[in-house]
Amino acid sequence: MRADYVNLVNTHTVPVRFMYHSPETLEEALRLMREYGGEARVMAGGTDLIVDMKLRRKEPKHIVSLNKIRGIEYIVEEDGGVRIGANTKLRSIEKNSIVRERFEALYEAVRSIASVQVRNMGTLVGNICNASPAADSAPPLLVYDAVVKARSIDGERKIKIRDFFKGPGKTCLKDDEIVTEVFIPYPPGDSASTFFKISRVSMDLAKVNIAILVKLSSNVVEDFRIALGAVAPTPLRIPKAEEYLRHKPLNEENLNIVEKIVSEEIKPITDVRSTEWYRREVSKILVRDALNSTIKKLVRT
Ligand SMILES: Cc1cc2nc3c(=O)[nH]c(=O)nc-3n(C[C@H](O)[C@H](O)[C@H](O)COP(=O)(O)OP(=O)(O)OC[C@H]3O[C@@H](n4cnc5c(N)ncnc54)[C@H](O)[C@@H]3O)c2cc1C
Repeated sequence: MRADYVNLVNTHTVPVRFMYHSPETLEEALRLMREYGGEARVMAGGTDLIVDMKLRRKEPKHIVSLNKIRGIEYIVEEDGGVRIGANTKLRSIEKNSIVRERFEALYEAVRSIASVQVRNMGTLVGNICNASPAADSAPPLLVYDAVVKARSIDGERKIKIRDFFKGPGKTCLKDDEIVTEVFIPYPPGDSASTFFKISRVSMDLAKVNIAILVKLSSNVVEDFRIALGAVAPTPLRIPKAEEYLRHKPLNEENLNIVEKIVSEEIKPITDVRSTEWYRREVSKILVRDALNSTIKKLVRT
């Protein structure tokens, strides 16, 4: 085989030389990240990282696996919300009753990711750290105002999820930081939330995904939050649409204006999954469908 052979397909081979570190404590993992800095990558489930390495999109010289570290796999209610540890598998989140009952949009998003096999390996934290603009957990975490906790040897910092994503594949994490948990505050009482996704086939990243949260008082919108994915370089909250709809009645005229604002605020591109035109058009329909579905949930409760 030629030495300059470049692997362009997703085969079973990882054509990258690397050192695999399997620390048993978080402190040891943090020391390794400090030592190897930009040459190291954290690995949780590996469902993104290994694919990227097979395709040579990432070529880390060191992998720091979180798999043997105890104490970072949990879902606990605390301080007005739920804390989800970095090693917590998507499948555990999907099966968790707190998530299912109180964070409907997150539950619906997690359930939509890949297959049971992938969800048994992949983590929520890996999903956001991978920073795909189409990451399905991102829109719900954005509407819930989640907080990401990152640690380095120097200590911990808390990052609002709105500030976390910096571009395709880019987050605000420093080279030596490891995300240890995501904290998700409870949504406002009497609110409901919904996640919708359009993709080519069920086991695929979204062409467009959306999460919304609504709280109504009679037919007037008290709280409205909306976030979309795969329509810009990062998953996006749409504050202009939120401000417009708050304190207004939920009628056809206002719905049309919200759809219009959303289609103007997003910055979709054409890629292998979809076209700019389709993404802009389908976003409007998703706004309407997600709102209707959320209202139905509110009426039921
Ligand atoms: C067949 C298939 C289908 C898929 N379908 C979907 C889908 O429908 N929707 C979707 O959103 N995704 C999908 N994915 C992508 C993937 O499964 C998810 O993004 C998953 O949540 C990634 O989690 P992980 O634990 O495997 O991350 P890993 O692959 O371990 O890591 C991903 C990235 O995050 C970094 N990272 C991981 N944990 C940490 C941490 N604690 N601190 C700092 N950095 C960290 C890694 O260095 C790496 O850059 C699919 C993947 C496959 C293989």
